[in-house]
Amino acid sequence: LFQRECQFVAGAMKLEQLPPMGPIEIAFAGRSNVGKSSLVNALTGRKTLARVSQNPGRTQQLNFFDLHGTLVLVDMPGHGYAKVGKSKVAEWSQLIEGYVRGRANLRRVMLLIDSRHGYKDSDIHLMDLLDRFALSYQVVMTKADTVKPKELEANRQKFLDQIKRRPAAHPEILVTSAEAGVGLTEVRDTLATLAAQ
Ligand code: GDP
Repeated sequence: LFQRECQFVAGAMKLEQLPPMGPIEIAFAGRSNVGKSSLVNALTGRKTLARVSQNPGRTQQLNFFDLHGTLVLVDMPGHGYAKVGKSKVAEWSQLIEGYVRGRANLRRVMLLIDSRHGYKDSDIHLMDLLDRFALSYQVVMTKADTVKPKELEANRQKFLDQIKRRPAAHPEILVTSAEAGVGLTEVRDTLATLAAQ
């Protein structure tokens, strides 16, 4: 699935700009600076797929990438960036809500969380929304290289406990580091399994 180049399909800033539904979609969401671009690039082996952000909060659109016609990877705009105004946040919420509500081929949202910091209000907000629409999401811890192994495992357990009672949360958390190449196989396997279903 990840051997060859993936193709940019479309970018949507508004609901009207969403591409037609095709194969299964897996979305990647996370706060600005969580390491989403780095992880997506590491997964696909493509440097230009999602540019490592210089200006967090700037790319407020959904980006669709086709992985050889079997899976579409959706890069969701980074949420929870403190410096964007209220109207921008409202725009973001509207786009995301409209997208997850009507998207029958959206199988799972991978919610990226910094291994050191855990959930922030904007993450909780997104989880509330996904629970409301019964849309499966799975937490992926990023930047695992920044935390000692013992603390990493303790955090994983804590993060898992915190979402235990959430109906749409997947009962397994993935641990990754784009920098150290940790956990990439597990994420790829998860996507491949979802694509094959
Ligand atoms: P995005 O805004 O979520 O797309 O985040 P980026 O991928 O642009 O990364 C934000 C910052 O975190 C950059 O300075 C990256 O170099 C750094 N970063 C990303 N992934 C890792 C990682 O696995 N380990 C470490 N130590 N830093 C990372």
